[in-house]
Amino acid sequence: MLSKDKAVVVFSGGQDSTTCLFWAKKHFNEVYALSFRYGQKHEQEVELAQKIAAKAGVEFAVMDLDFINFLSPDCSLTHSDIQMDKEKPATTPPNTFVPGRNLFFLSIAAVYARNKGAMNIVTGVSQTDFSGYPDCRDSFIRSLNVSLNLSMDEQFVIHTPLMWLDKSETWALADDLGVFDLVLKETMTCYNGIPGDGCGECPACKLRRRGLETYLKLKSKSKR
Ligand code: ZN
Repeated sequence: MLSKDKAVVVFSGGQDSTTCLFWAKKHFNEVYALSFRYGQKHEQEVELAQKIAAKAGVEFAVMDLDFINFLSPDCSLTHSDIQMDKEKPATTPPNTFVPGRNLFFLSIAAVYARNKGAMNIVTGVSQTDFSGYPDCRDSFIRSLNVSLNLSMDEQFVIHTPLMWLDKSETWALADDLGVFDLVLKETMTCYNGIPGDGCGECPACKLRRRGLETYLKLKSKSKR
């Protein structure tokens, strides 16, 4: 029997999944963080994730998925010789898209959750700011949830606390959870592998900073 008090968080050590880790800690008694090594250019991502998990006091595990890199020869996130798309192309996902990534991550997370006796799986995907990644959409997550339950005859619940939040609302959630500073200084969202404020130039940094500026503006207004 899976426990409704336990949750596995798909955890990369970025802004979104770190916010989700602390969201999960608030809602469940036992939380497990699961990271993946999949040939991302910045493997220090995994070390940062481990540090944050230790701070949060949750069990941390990392899985090797080298095949993702092999399957995505055109992806700029896993191949440093490919120039990153700066803007989202009109009709296709940007070349930072890793095909199948969330499908693989969540499928593995579900098997891991089953081993841990956890009914809940938490992921930081968001449809609001979705950068043209089809596997960040609500319809995909719901569909996969059904498939995972059928595949193992279980009753997993995939939680997506950020699905309908924009980046400034994600900052607000981190603040509500008491981890604003931790998320600001210790997480890494940057595609160029620079923690905290990042490189400031890549699409992920721009999105993160715009969200932060909006949130801080709203916050200072509400204080007046
Ligand atoms: Zn960056």
